[in-house]
Amino acid sequence: MPAVITKERRSQLMARIRSKDTVPELRVRRLIHSLGYRYRLHSKDLPGKPDIVFSRKRKLIFVHGCFWHCCKKAGCRKAHQSRSNEGYWGPKIESNVERDRKCIRSLRRIGWKVLVIWECETADEERLAIRITKFLGPIRS
Ligand SMILES: [Zn+2]
Repeated sequence: MPAVITKERRSQLMARIRSKDTVPELRVRRLIHSLGYRYRLHSKDLPGKPDIVFSRKRKLIFVHGCFWHCCKKAGCRKAHQSRSNEGYWGPKIESNVERDRKCIRSLRRIGWKVLVIWECETADEERLAIRITKFLGPIRS
């Protein structure tokens, strides 16, 4: 028996799927995949559980939300929000930033090459593709 899904329920589901697809990390993953690279996700045995890991290349990518990780890019609107909310979210964001710094430092110390992609940098896919390709190098290496 096929499950009965009302029209309303279906559109709710579709809306959820679509909004999930716009999450910056998924956008980056899809792009990397379409460029032909293969990766592992959320490696729990590495500091900071990096989002996207290329084990053989010993390279990894973090995709950072601009608000929560306090983006410093000029013209980033979400980072501006986080700065103007310092009183309330400040301590939380500050500890994120500190943790990011520590994790990246220890990853580099054990020989990983690290690329941080900010949420606001994921809008321009062409530019992002060039950056990722430069960072990762040839697909098979
Ligand atoms: Zn940003």
